[in-house]
Amino acid sequence: MAEIAVHLRSVRDKILYAATKRELKHRYYEPRLVAVSKLQSVESILFAYEAGQRHFGENYVNELVEKSLNPQILEQCKEIQWHFIGNLQRNKVNKILNVPNLYMIETVSNDKLADMLNNSWPKFRKSDDSKLNVMVQVNTSREKEKNGCDIVQVSTLVKHVINNCHNLKFIGLMTIGMFGYNIANGPNPDFICLIKCREKISDELGIDTKNIELSMGMSNDYEHAIELGSTNVRVGTAIFGNRPQKNTL
Ligand SMILES: *Cc1c(COP(=O)(O)O)cnc(C)c1O
Repeated sequence: MAEIAVHLRSVRDKILYAATKRELKHRYYEPRLVAVSKLQSVESILFAYEAGQRHFGENYVNELVEKSLNPQILEQCKEIQWHFIGNLQRNKVNKILNVPNLYMIETVSNDKLADMLNNSWPKFRKSDDSKLNVMVQVNTSREKEKNGCDIVQVSTLVKHVINNCHNLKFIGLMTIGMFGYNIANGPNPDFICLIKCREKISDELGIDTKNIELSMGMSNDYEHAIELGSTNVRVGTAIFGNRPQKNTL
């Protein structure tokens, strides 16, 4: 467990260093580190929180619900900010919206899901005007097994969220991308694709690119993603070590 604090410090240092290698136009923000705690123990989360980490990401609805309602987490992690980064089925929307300290849903991939989140949020929010932060997930690698909206539908979906979902706050775009890409071959094409999607939205909807975040980069490529302009990296293994298998939980 003690390694978690050491790993966290090292990841944070690398994030800040990578941030200095960005083009000048990207240097207006400090990238956010989301510690991906899926399949890791409550104890690991407590340790990371104690070491100063506030944003945590989870992939599975039931696991996030359980962890967020854990008495120790509720008691000791009052400022925790949960990110949901997994596949969200519409029949699980109410469960997820009930999570205390839910900060953002990063995986909105179609308008029906957006509508359902939008319609349900008022039943759960703590104050009348608070909006739910959402990102639109894009399937930049066009792999069948990956979630996310198709590249050609991104601006239609973002427009829908902005114009029709007044209880949601559009924060930016998210991608997972193809696994195992070797950056010796140049910038990751999935990241380049997400950056292009942002430019297109910015042009078509008249939103400053500075107001459209990019969630991209995981343990093996977060520094690279930051150099290209990622504002939100999702890092699990490099902080918590290898994950237990899902079926052994
Ligand atoms: C598991 C997961 C991560 C973290 O992966 P690591 O390689 O452990 O850093 C990031 N994003 C998503 C969507 C994930 O499912």
